[in-house]
Amino acid sequence: MRFISQILFLKSFIHPCRNSGSSPVLTAIAVLFMAAWSQPFYGATAKKPAGTSGKAVKIPAAPALGATSQPSSAMQTPAVRAITHGDRGVPMIALTFDDAPHPQYVPQLLALFRAENVQATFFLVGEQLKLFPDVARAIVADGHEIGNHSLSHKNAARASATSVEAEIVGMQRLVKDLLGVTPAVYRPPFGNVSAEVKRICERENLAIVTWDVDTNDWRSGTTREMIVRNVLDNATSGSIVLLHATHLKTVEAVADLIPILRFRKLQMVTLSDLLKAKSARAVKPRLAPHQQGPVALQLFESSGNDKAPAAAPAMPSTRSIQMPVLPLP
Ligand SMILES: [Zn+2]
Repeated sequence: MRFISQILFLKSFIHPCRNSGSSPVLTAIAVLFMAAWSQPFYGATAKKPAGTSGKAVKIPAAPALGATSQPSSAMQTPAVRAITHGDRGVPMIALTFDDAPHPQYVPQLLALFRAENVQATFFLVGEQLKLFPDVARAIVADGHEIGNHSLSHKNAARASATSVEAEIVGMQRLVKDLLGVTPAVYRPPFGNVSAEVKRICERENLAIVTWDVDTNDWRSGTTREMIVRNVLDNATSGSIVLLHATHLKTVEAVADLIPILRFRKLQMVTLSDLLKAKSARAVKPRLAPHQQGPVALQLFESSGNDKAPAAAPAMPSTRSIQMPVLPLP
């Protein structure tokens, strides 16, 4: 009994979505225990993945304490980077919910989003999708985005290339079969990205997306108020906020956040809409030389030439301007 309680204690330091933020030693020990016994995403509904029991596991070095706003960098190289945010010049943010669908909290989030006219992104895990397909269908029906969060939440850092491929491609097929949509975004479990993940995602037209604001909502010590404060302190234009569809406090915190984010003029959109949006600065076309001067100057200088430049906005020529004749006093 004491042994089991030790495992439960150690499990509280680590979460399936990520493996950073806790003591490296405790994390390493917890990973060993979890590799040996496996773990569900939450509750007791998920099955133990085959082939993990008793295997020796190489533990990646855990990031230092306090590195909470970035995913684990264990498998990230300069050549393999996930997208962490959108254009900073666009007043939009994406609220993203991992480990969906949850039978209780996803319907609550959907009702909230419907009332507030907010769009969000839900990253589904295949094993959860098989259990609660109707909850996932409701997400699609409400116009939110569905993301791929793998079939069984395996860590790409510890899985074979074949297994990684089966997890990502299998999930694409499952979503298509059950929901009739094809995800365009992939969130790697634990935030781990490898060259193999990149190769598969490129082939499948999947953008690999992590986050720039981590609410840590999965931690037992994180309160509703802490989630709200974290987002308000860190989210800005283009931010991608990591949340989980598995906690009541998250639903409550999001309800608190929506009016404040709206007051800050940050539009809450799906990930794909966020990634598509470009600021006016980024898409501003280069002006032709004749368009660069002050309009008034151009107006008078062009008075001797009736032929307006092809791309110039329609402006009246000086000759066509009829000045009113004012009566003399
Ligand atoms: Zn996850």
